[in-house]
Amino acid sequence: MSRPDRRRRYWNEPTMGWWERAYLFEILRGLSVTGGVFTRNLWRWMTGRKGALTTYYPEEVRKDFARHNRGKHVLTQRPDGSPQCVACNMCATVCPARCIEIEAIFDPADEAHPKSPSRFEIDYSRCIFCGMCVEACPEDAIRMVPEVPNLPSTDRHHMWLDMDELLNWRPQSDVAKPYPPAPRRDGGDAP
Ligand code: SF4
Ligand code: SF4
Repeated sequence: MSRPDRRRRYWNEPTMGWWERAYLFEILRGLSVTGGVFTRNLWRWMTGRKGALTTYYPEEVRKDFARHNRGKHVLTQRPDGSPQCVACNMCATVCPARCIEIEAIFDPADEAHPKSPSRFEIDYSRCIFCGMCVEACPEDAIRMVPEVPNLPSTDRHHMWLDMDELLNWRPQSDVAKPYPPAPRRDGGDAP
């Protein structure tokens, strides 16, 4: 004999009074909220102000990312400006989207860090921003920052970020280590 279906009751299941059960009043209340927002935004638009939180891309680009947003990868650097990455490929191996490509070079003269990347590229048309590459890195060489790169393109080959772009991260301060100053625009040495 099959058991009758039992509907699970949630611990915080709401109880409705006759007002909610009648539905019509709640539908009218919802329409009044929606209509109020619509009318306010329409009035602002008619008076030359920005109403809704719509971003008119590409004329406008959002900058108000949350502090914990993870929208772009960066490669950290040693105090001499070289990448901290040792080209171990762990990030590329763990990446579920298979969107990190690394080519390594070997420098026997550098005893401390003989291996480093000559090419480090991320395909943002496939990245799912899961952060597993950051978790896997044993060198704190790859991190994610709140900013979002200007990605939209009609050609997905333009959505690859290369090492120059990934190394172009110069935080004001880094709790983990001192950071190399940005090179001077006139080509001279950094102060
Ligand atoms: S965030 Fe996830 S999908 Fe994107 S490169 Fe890192 S591991 Fe791959
Ligand atoms: S970023 Fe980290 S995990 Fe990826 S290759 Fe470099 S050192 Fe290895």
